[in-house]
Amino acid sequence: HRSSELDGIQDILDEIAAAMASRTDRGKAAGYIPELACVDTGQFAIAVAGVDGQVFCGGDVGTPFSIQSVSKVFTLTLALGKLGDTIWSRVGREPSGNAFNSIMQLEHEKGRPRNPFINAGAITVADLILAGHAPREAIGEIIRFVRFLADDETIAIDEKVARSELDHGDRNASLAHFMRSFGRLDNPVDHVLGVYFHHCALAMTCRQLAVSGLYLAAGGMNPMTGTRVISAERARRINALMLTCGHYDGSGEFAYRVGLPGKSGVGGAILAVAPGKAAIAVWSPGLDPVGNSKLGAEALEMLAQRTGWSVFGA
Ligand code: GLU
Repeated sequence: HRSSELDGIQDILDEIAAAMASRTDRGKAAGYIPELACVDTGQFAIAVAGVDGQVFCGGDVGTPFSIQSVSKVFTLTLALGKLGDTIWSRVGREPSGNAFNSIMQLEHEKGRPRNPFINAGAITVADLILAGHAPREAIGEIIRFVRFLADDETIAIDEKVARSELDHGDRNASLAHFMRSFGRLDNPVDHVLGVYFHHCALAMTCRQLAVSGLYLAAGGMNPMTGTRVISAERARRINALMLTCGHYDGSGEFAYRVGLPGKSGVGGAILAVAPGKAAIAVWSPGLDPVGNSKLGAEALEMLAQRTGWSVFGA
């Protein structure tokens, strides 16, 4: 028996995948991480996981990709679970209005990043998860958490991507050192960056990513496994942060066009949440000038139009 929310969704996904396959203006793959720069921008995939546990897919659904900053949703969830609301003394909840890797604001705000989804904020969250442990243990904890969310033990980190980020990580290293100069990081910079680069290098398929985000659509529960991940209140608040801060300096535009909480990554993935209905993962490696997946946002715009799922009304 199909829930009415997902009736006809497969036809919509097929239509979107066909429309995206014919697009010629596909954006450019992230250039500053060499391992990502060589990914073929001709690819596109979409998956919708309903709160009733049904999953629908379209496009190149079997291909794993680098989830990059989408992982920041999962590390934030993990840190909130471990440390509760004390994390907000270390990181804010306001949109940045600057590039994802900007250092400027950090000086004004004395090393306290504006939100957990820009790089500086996610590096702070990695520091909180690390909490004096060896980086290997913290990375292991993050992988186990994402496998638990996806209900899939095969999810792994792409070590080549992690290495590529480390080798070209001067900007992130400078953010971390700058924060540490204000006494804002508890752990050595190389440990914190090791954790950060590794969680950004998690490789997943659209199906795995959509299922992993389902707890945000289902009031903190994972309906696939029947387990509670976080409280409904925390899920609602993470959704609020995704809506206001999830697309770097393009968050307002994404809310305007799509109207769903979402988190994008420079690998070309976007995880979007239709509260009470479904989690949606899209992936296409070509980015717009702000660093968000060009076709990913277009596909979500089409999906929101067809389904009426925008949180602002149909
Ligand atoms: N690992 C990437 C970086 O630190 C993540 C950026 C992103 O996806 O926004 O630059």
